[in-house]
Amino acid sequence: MSSLRKYNRICLFCRKEFIAQKRTTKYCGHPCASRAYKVNKKKQDVVEVNFEEFIKRELMIHSETLIQIQNSISHLLQVTRLSNAEFIPVQDYCAMKGISRKTLSRLIKEEKVEVQKISERKLLIRL
Ligand SMILES: [Zn+2]
Repeated sequence: MSSLRKYNRICLFCRKEFIAQKRTTKYCGHPCASRAYKVNKKKQDVVEVNFEEFIKRELMIHSETLIQIQNSISHLLQVTRLSNAEFIPVQDYCAMKGISRKTLSRLIKEEKVEVQKISERKLLIRL
């Protein structure tokens, strides 16, 4: 009897039975082993590519979120700056200063007052 033990194994690639000398042998021979290696390698590459895509996608989503946050913050800052600067509507400014709209128009032209343009029609004047 041989000193080498023999193991009945089933090839993980071609599913045929074979006699192995080691219990850990997975394939019936070199052809199956190398073909199995190639298949596994391919699978691994696919997984790695998918992971890369996944990370790219995640980063994209996060950068979009970041841009949205930045936009919200800059909008908030703008609103805060407006209220801190105490800009008031034209009619309020005129009433408070006791001046006519015509005078205010002149002051605006002469750049003696700071104007915040809200829309085509609406202006706010800095106190
Ligand atoms: Zn095989």
